[in-house]
Amino acid sequence: MTDLISDRFAMVLHEPGSTEQNRLVPTTTAPLHPGAGEVRVAMAACAVCRTDLQIVSGDLPAHRLPIVPGHQVVGVIDAVGSGVDASRMGEAVGVSWFAGSCGHCQWCLTGRQNLCEQAEFTGWYRDGGYATSMLARADCAFELPADYRPDLTGEQRAVALSPLLCGGVIGYRSLRIAEVGPQSAGLRLGLYGYGASATLVLQVAKFWGVEPYVVTRSEPEVQRALAAGATWAGTYDQALPVKLNSAITFAPSGDVVITALKALERGGTVAVNAIHLDRVPEFNYDDLWWERSIRSVANVTPADVREFLALVGPAGVQTIYEELPLAQANTALRRLSAGDVSGSLVLTT
Ligand SMILES: [Zn+2]
Ligand SMILES: [Zn+2]
Repeated sequence: MTDLISDRFAMVLHEPGSTEQNRLVPTTTAPLHPGAGEVRVAMAACAVCRTDLQIVSGDLPAHRLPIVPGHQVVGVIDAVGSGVDASRMGEAVGVSWFAGSCGHCQWCLTGRQNLCEQAEFTGWYRDGGYATSMLARADCAFELPADYRPDLTGEQRAVALSPLLCGGVIGYRSLRIAEVGPQSAGLRLGLYGYGASATLVLQVAKFWGVEPYVVTRSEPEVQRALAAGATWAGTYDQALPVKLNSAITFAPSGDVVITALKALERGGTVAVNAIHLDRVPEFNYDDLWWERSIRSVANVTPADVREFLALVGPAGVQTIYEELPLAQANTALRRLSAGDVSGSLVLTT
């Protein structure tokens, strides 16, 4: 087979540390060849996630070095390995944080691949999308929706879709862990914190007829939430006007988790969308009584990615983003670190 791509360009991390220095080294290599069960994806867009910043800065310990970060990848399959259906050549796909699991443990066999002890993650265990080309397991390269933003060209659509592949998918899983779904019209959902993931969750919730109540830090965030259609929005020092049926917390703060728990109706669930919490403060059992619960949200499953991607077109989920050339990935990370970005930064080839 002749390779159409002569060289592969990647931004490679060798030594994590302060992103004040350029940690990612521009590197040109020979083309990649997909192994058994793998596909090669020609990258069109890769949104930058805060987790990328944590990997590059060393806050999240490296799993493998050198590594190419990036786990919100949109592209086209341009080579398939053995055992992969050749009809997938040319398919527009998205690659997310979940890069594969063992397939035979108690978690994998019950649709909870996110809990697999051998789960792998894109841009941390396997080279990711800060590159013109990457390899992915064929079952972790997800077909993109054809009905998303028909107003956009193919290239624009790739860029617009990429920020959905991490914050959007994990937000979707948070909704499901909070027991919110298409059957939840009229339910009152609290969103504690209003960053990128919460803005996507709010759009899906509204599509389902759920009433979002947003509690966040700053007045500008309150105004953005109201403009996006929140039923109510206020800062942490304001009292909610109603009890909530469910809540999702996005802030890495245990105080916020308990604040959300205390706002719940009987039988309600707080889904904690945070990898780390500072601590969970002591609280009264009365706050948990009446079958209230607190659940953590850990990564995503392939079904989450598929279900969410099927939803973004009909729900009209909008993303806010700014494009940067792939070669400026170091600048993108510095800007994210400095908070110098509204919406998502998306690297493009
Ligand atoms: Zn497993
Ligand atoms: Zn991410």
